[in-house]
Amino acid sequence: MDNMIKKGEECLLHTYNRFPVVFDKAEGVKLYDINGKEYLDFFSGIAVMALGYCHPEYTKRLHEQLDKLTHISNYFYNEPAITAAEKFVKASGMDRVFFTNSGAEAIEGALKMARRYSYDKYGEGRTDVIAVNHSFHGRTMGAVSVTGTEAYRKPFGQMLGGITFAEYNNLDSVKALISDKTCAIILETLQGEGGIHVAEKEFLEGIRAICDEKDIVMILDEVQCGMGRTGKYFAYQHYDILPDIMTSAKGIGNGMPVGAFACKEQFAALVAGDHGSTYGGNPMVTAAINAVFDIYEKEDVLKNVTEVGDYLYNELEKLASENELIVDHRGIGLMQGIELKTEVKKIVGDALDNGLVLISAGNNVIRFLPALIISKEDVDNMISILKKVLA
Ligand SMILES: *Cc1c(COP(=O)(O)O)cnc(C)c1O
Repeated sequence: MDNMIKKGEECLLHTYNRFPVVFDKAEGVKLYDINGKEYLDFFSGIAVMALGYCHPEYTKRLHEQLDKLTHISNYFYNEPAITAAEKFVKASGMDRVFFTNSGAEAIEGALKMARRYSYDKYGEGRTDVIAVNHSFHGRTMGAVSVTGTEAYRKPFGQMLGGITFAEYNNLDSVKALISDKTCAIILETLQGEGGIHVAEKEFLEGIRAICDEKDIVMILDEVQCGMGRTGKYFAYQHYDILPDIMTSAKGIGNGMPVGAFACKEQFAALVAGDHGSTYGGNPMVTAAINAVFDIYEKEDVLKNVTEVGDYLYNELEKLASENELIVDHRGIGLMQGIELKTEVKKIVGDALDNGLVLISAGNNVIRFLPALIISKEDVDNMISILKKVLA
């Protein structure tokens, strides 16, 4: 393992401080490194592996598609993309969708569409976007422009113009930034990288009301919190609102690189020639989306998220009440986090040594993003390793 890591460090760009493990294969919620050591996974490749690893039906469906047609340009139609679009708009309450290759690209598309909508109605210059602090929307230039962590933006010079940052769950701070040039407001329904912060009802519904009043496009980023992770298909379905444009990725492909941005009909401003993607929505990745949706229905995955999510919530509440290192516990469904008094980097590393894969958010939050098919027993096993590591 050490040799392989050394080789990797010689030729991979060092954009991650990687943990010293080389993973080789996986099944369900178990991962195995190249020495055969077993790990319980509560990381899911950053909330991607919704159905766990090597789900038999998912694998079978992808094999079938691999033998039929993997790629064809968007200059033609393909059946998996049309079926996936139909399922996606139904589950999200949107009317139209564009498939991308990643979450960041979904954000790029959403921003372009919001600006195009405003341009059609109000002409040039109404292009400003309000984002929020501690948000995360991806690493491309547009997506990083609306990401609320200065360190991610500063080394890269000029960002998209007209972006300002409000405070999450502070409606007045949003109102204070609105001008006659404001075109869109973008935020995560439930902040992931920023440390698992849930939008308050008054905040989200307040933003909806402002957007309606001033014809501002409301964009909700559901890349991490969507696709069932909170027990509903999309996290905004816990509230009494719909966004105008929403983004998705991570869980929708269960490991195939695919994202999406979708909108209500009146915001479908992008027209032929405005936007495109060579791979976007190709038959291979959209076959993955279709398999994911079908398996969710067949196995009642959303119900499992609610049940096991509640169980995880109670177990973490118990742990938090017993352990003085834990200062807060937040989240919905299978997207939860505990905030600690100390940095969590060493704890996450120790957990890994003890066969548990966890993920941090910022310096002092541990996130729990397991596969959506986990059992209560998996939660018990995770808690027992975590207790040992915290002790
Ligand atoms: C991960 C993430 C993104 C970026 O997705 P990529 O596929 O890494 O480009 C955007 N928004 C949110 C909320 C995310 O968690």
